[in-house]
Amino acid sequence: MTTMLYTHEACLAHDPGRHHPESPARLRAVLAALETPEFQALRRGEAPRAELADIARIHPRDFAERLLAAVPHEGHAAIDADTVLSPGSGEAALRAAGAVVAAVDAVIAGAAANAFCAVRPPGHHAEPRHAMGFCLFNNIAIAAAHARAAHGLARVAVVDFDVHHGNGTQAAFENDATLFYASTHQMPLYPGTGSARERGVGNIVNVPLAPMSGGREFRAAYSGEILPALDAFRPEIVLVSAGFDAHRSDPLAELMLVESDYAWVTDQLLALAARHAKGRLVSTLEGGYDLAALAASAATHVRCLMTA
Ligand SMILES: [Zn+2]
Repeated sequence: MTTMLYTHEACLAHDPGRHHPESPARLRAVLAALETPEFQALRRGEAPRAELADIARIHPRDFAERLLAAVPHEGHAAIDADTVLSPGSGEAALRAAGAVVAAVDAVIAGAAANAFCAVRPPGHHAEPRHAMGFCLFNNIAIAAAHARAAHGLARVAVVDFDVHHGNGTQAAFENDATLFYASTHQMPLYPGTGSARERGVGNIVNVPLAPMSGGREFRAAYSGEILPALDAFRPEIVLVSAGFDAHRSDPLAELMLVESDYAWVTDQLLALAARHAKGRLVSTLEGGYDLAALAASAATHVRCLMTA
């Protein structure tokens, strides 16, 4: 079975400004790493635009329309100090969400074993009514809602190993027991949510990690808490918010992961998907701000997907 890679050049045209860490160079670095001969067997798909109806399963339609209408014709339009629109941002946001939706369709149809979406802007901070933290639409939450609504899946899990807590995904899921959200993240750190006490309706598992935690603490969080909770939930598809900013080289946080930790967690999640979800796993890029560490970590992650 094959691994699909979804991306779109429009995702390079979202430009939050010079010196912004969430730069087009991030996606260029990931795509360059996936162009080397060992990744030749990836099946490459062009990300379609998400439909407004897809987005509206998570974000109220008036919010989505206002966000797209705020995209400037030239220059920049700031939503907040971190979250900035450029003329290419609307198309990028639609393609980023559309990639994850299309990847879910491909994996459920059996056209691929699993998929990775190399897209930006990222999504996991975007709350139903609030774009924030470099994120416009919540790509992974939109894909989860699509898996349930369009394919009738009864249980959909999102696992988020980005160094930041996915407050947006949690906000979208916390009252819905058919959706499950598990996150490891550094605490204290932006956005400030993600304490272990935030449990939704029993469908949220947050494992905050202290600054300077490394692979030992990270793996213990998965082995001790997140994987057992996922086994109890029995997801019919596993979605992954794959941010690589918990890497020891990342400038935005202080966790100490290395590439082998990303390989380990990817293999664990693939095994989980094999146990409960016919192997169905869709991963999408969230953060990761050291270009070399991001490229190497994403390549490691995709290499694991390809050997599933
Ligand atoms: Zn992050």
